[in-house]
Amino acid sequence: MEPIERKTCIICGEQKEEGIKVVTEFICVSCEREMVSTKVEDRKYPFFVQQLKQVWVRFHV
Ligand SMILES: [Zn+2]
Repeated sequence: MEPIERKTCIICGEQKEEGIKVVTEFICVSCEREMVSTKVEDRKYPFFVQQLKQVWVRFHV
């Protein structure tokens, strides 16, 4: 039995205890920090946007 609730991060796909909830999805602390520090011209930026779009689409359907 796992006493601490773990949620699957939508960005890295790993199960983490700490993080933020975006609509109904979960983003872990490390990904959240990375997203905040990622600039638009960064190569990783489109990846984050794509992951977040999935949340957005699900929320609006
Ligand atoms: Zn993550």
